[in-house]
Amino acid sequence: MSNGPKITGLWVVDLRFPTSETLDGSDATHTDPDYSAAYVVLDTDESDGNPSRQGHGLTFTIGRGTEVVCACCRALAPFVIGKTLGEITGGFLKFYRSLTNQSQLRWIGPEKGVVHLATAAVVNAVWDLWGKVEGKPVWQLVSEMRPEYLVELIELRYLSDVLTKTEALDILRDLEPSRNMRLQALIADGYPAYTTSAGWLGYSDEKITSLVNEAVKAGWNHFKIKVGADLEDDIRRCRLIRRLIGPDRCLMTDANQRWDVPEAIEWMKPLAEFDPMWIEEPTSPDDVLGHKAIADALRPLGIGVATGEMCQNRVMFKQFMQAGAMDVCQIDSCRLGSINEILAVLLMAAKLGVPVCPHAGGVGLCQYVNHLVMLDYIAISGTMDNRVAEYVSHLHEHFVDPWEVRRAAYRLPGGAGYGITIRPESLEAFAYPGGAEWKRRLAAGRVVQA
Ligand SMILES: [Mg+2]
Repeated sequence: MSNGPKITGLWVVDLRFPTSETLDGSDATHTDPDYSAAYVVLDTDESDGNPSRQGHGLTFTIGRGTEVVCACCRALAPFVIGKTLGEITGGFLKFYRSLTNQSQLRWIGPEKGVVHLATAAVVNAVWDLWGKVEGKPVWQLVSEMRPEYLVELIELRYLSDVLTKTEALDILRDLEPSRNMRLQALIADGYPAYTTSAGWLGYSDEKITSLVNEAVKAGWNHFKIKVGADLEDDIRRCRLIRRLIGPDRCLMTDANQRWDVPEAIEWMKPLAEFDPMWIEEPTSPDDVLGHKAIADALRPLGIGVATGEMCQNRVMFKQFMQAGAMDVCQIDSCRLGSINEILAVLLMAAKLGVPVCPHAGGVGLCQYVNHLVMLDYIAISGTMDNRVAEYVSHLHEHFVDPWEVRRAAYRLPGGAGYGITIRPESLEAFAYPGGAEWKRRLAAGRVVQA
């Protein structure tokens, strides 16, 4: 492209939604999440407030600490401001590393934690701007790239013992001639999704029953339930959901890091009766060998181990896959450093035959996942076997161009960019602590400012 718009400013909104009031999103570890985001806006010399010439990106948080991620996004601003889009995309990997490998900032990572969450927010905003300038949704932008061009964008550093650049290129080239066939399949049927929205831990049996019944009627076949706080309660809730969904639909369970390794194995044995397809995040997200032990113990019971939403970077994913510790790979669109790193994980998973079922339990994550599963199917893995993407139903009303899910399948997003632009009225209402919704709660003493 020509040089394109020049980035003239980066601003960040600490955006929080009071979901803890309804326990939407609650699990055994995160008992009162306020689904939140560090929301980055890149202004350009062509934007003048016009969102179609701005880049929008976010990273997902759950309330307190969002202000820390926002501060880190601001610390990355000097590496973005003053660059044209063409300068960035003309050497995207070099730009990406200017953030992840900045000689001083990398000390507070490297490529993990707050600084990596902030990197994702900023780089997601760059991808959004690129899509908008090209007039294409990001899934299309990526899946139309020539393999030789695409491979140059991907962060493959530290991976060559498992995936070389040549192997990555071979995978991309193998699938290139048949891309259009898969695109047509997506246009016709969409990409299969599962719902987490009926099984948050804080929900009553009555609420679960009505939500599951509604979801079955709407065509859902995969249901996830949170477990790990109380075994007897888990048995009762799994029994309830299994009864409601019948023997043929799939049940998944998610412990959100609640257990030690032996406890995870013992806890899941009585739940095997309900035939869960997987147990997600059974223990610390950093414990590769612990996951391996759990996976080995539960495999004979027909239960897989899923993890990845808190997997810090591609190197951790590499180890999980090398060790056979991850039956299901759950990439997160904001914990990995945007598409440049996500593609590396998708390619490793494609090579090693590990199914990818992206994490989307968070504000904005369904928006991103909608693009990622499409580009993965068209250009990276070429398969939907054993793959199903997460879906949660709340908070979509805050997006200008919300995802579309029909008959339990994500539909191809049509708008230019990465689909994450938040409605101006939502920004005004839910900015923290100055937005109207928070001012009201703070004045009434219902919340205490973090
Ligand atoms: Mg989870």
